[in-house]
Amino acid sequence: MKTFSNKKDLYWNPVVETLPLERLQELQVRKFKKILKWAYERSRFHRKLYQEAGLKPGDIKSFNDVAKVPKVEKAMMRDIQRKDPFPYGDALCVPLEEVTEFRQTSGTTGTPVYQPDTWQDWEWWSECWAYLLYAQGYRKTDRVFLPFGYNIFVAFWAGHYAAEKVGCEVIPGGVLDTEARILKIQELRATAMMATPTYVLGMADTARKKLGIDPARDLTIRKITCAGEPGASIPSTKKRMEETWGAKVYDHVGATEIGAWGFECAEQPGGLHINEAMFLAQLEDIETGEMIEEPGRKGKIIITALDRMAQPCIRFDSKDVAEWSKDPCPCGRTFRVIQGGVAGRSDDITKIKGVLLAPSAIEEVVRSIKGLSNEFEVVVTKKGDLDDITLKIEILPEEEKNRETILTQLKDQLRLKTNLGYNIEVHPFNSLPRYEVKAKRFKDLRKHS
Ligand SMILES: [Zn+2]
Repeated sequence: MKTFSNKKDLYWNPVVETLPLERLQELQVRKFKKILKWAYERSRFHRKLYQEAGLKPGDIKSFNDVAKVPKVEKAMMRDIQRKDPFPYGDALCVPLEEVTEFRQTSGTTGTPVYQPDTWQDWEWWSECWAYLLYAQGYRKTDRVFLPFGYNIFVAFWAGHYAAEKVGCEVIPGGVLDTEARILKIQELRATAMMATPTYVLGMADTARKKLGIDPARDLTIRKITCAGEPGASIPSTKKRMEETWGAKVYDHVGATEIGAWGFECAEQPGGLHINEAMFLAQLEDIETGEMIEEPGRKGKIIITALDRMAQPCIRFDSKDVAEWSKDPCPCGRTFRVIQGGVAGRSDDITKIKGVLLAPSAIEEVVRSIKGLSNEFEVVVTKKGDLDDITLKIEILPEEEKNRETILTQLKDQLRLKTNLGYNIEVHPFNSLPRYEVKAKRFKDLRKHS
């Protein structure tokens, strides 16, 4: 998308977004030392962690030294919370009365973790989002619709404030139901929106079936920012969303405990930039823990939020699996790119019949086949000593006549892309579970059978 006349107009912060890598790393190390010292001096949790590892803040002198700092896992945060200063516990680095924002994680992997932020932190959240919205072409002329439940989960809250910061007009579509949201988008001629891929596709279904509205033809949404699931970085899912809405779809990745750390730019390079002015990300081999610097090798992202003060996020194990891109992005940003976005969670990427499988690879295949609905489910079980994978899909009613061709195509593509064989179950159209926000399509039942 070469729609910006002036190169300077491409970037939210033209200086840091184009800094040479060495300068960027100098900046990161300087900020890292500062946040490490801050946490060491103010949080009993961090001080104990570092003392036990025999580490003092002054020991960090270079970019490579950062890897010496112990990692923090989500479970460690759970253990210290719900205690004084209530409810955040020992990692809180500011007096409790300085906290202005409460959010919590969704709790899909266990007890939720609470996230306190000060007003300064909250402004930092929206600043991170401003980088990504600007990179995706959001400008003052946009009217942005936010179709999410404004709730205790952070979701698109900071996206709301960032869109205002960039100068857009923002419509909070909070408690409206899906039909009312679509009608409001139509009435107000909104130009952009933010939602999970599951909801973007679900909204389009509702628009067509319940309201007779074709989003690409009848609505004016031309930019969609996705988060919460990897779909916008999975080429076939992205294509489905873009065709359905007649819009450009961009991915973004973030987490409650970390912040908004990665984004796709308007060039859509097939990956996400890491906002390296605000975060220090390292890629670590899942099995050996070794740092990965070269492209094409997958590892998990260990990440530090460099400016988050109330509850610091230092060397946090994101469990997000990714790989470095080998090419710089044509947009001119020097922020490094992770190729293909986040490939999955290190917990979800399991060995099946001895083969490493990322659920996103199955999604890529299913969504690339014309004739299948958007819904599918994968169930892994154990039959005797053997792993068994069942893939449940739905064929669109108008494509029933091509059933055999569709199924052959599906089996061939699955074998080609994932090196595994599947039992395919065709379910009646509209019978698989529909998800409102985030989908749960991958079920590994081997531990229980
Ligand atoms: Zn770019």
